[in-house]
Amino acid sequence: MKIIKNKKFLAKPCEPVPKEKFDWIRGILHRELLIKTNAVGIAANQLGIPYRAFAMRYEKRILVFINPKITDRWGDELFLKEKCLSLKKQYKVKRCMYIRVTDDYHTKGHTMALTNYAAQVFQHETDHIDGITIQTRSELDGKS
Ligand SMILES: [Zn+2]
Repeated sequence: MKIIKNKKFLAKPCEPVPKEKFDWIRGILHRELLIKTNAVGIAANQLGIPYRAFAMRYEKRILVFINPKITDRWGDELFLKEKCLSLKKQYKVKRCMYIRVTDDYHTKGHTMALTNYAAQVFQHETDHIDGITIQTRSELDGKS
């Protein structure tokens, strides 16, 4: 599937995924990340699907999160350079290195701690479904 680069589309916050669409969206996200071997994560809206879901690589596996939430953040925030499938340039964005997350699919409402790079990727993808690209995030952070 083609990666969406339209900034207006990517700036729209996504809708929650209804339960009957969990398996459908999981299949698409898993397959698309599997074939995009240069990517560490992909959000549904980058594929033109405006739902709150994404896939990310984690410890050599692909995890799919549906209706994800960051429930806690702690520790230092770092400015890190990130790339995005939807953008040409790299941007420096502020990320927290320790987060606790939950979702309706992978964690099934339980929480899970993510650190360092995994935490960074989760924040990048969560931003996507909130309609925030790294370009917007870097402007929000006051650095570009
Ligand atoms: Zn991205």
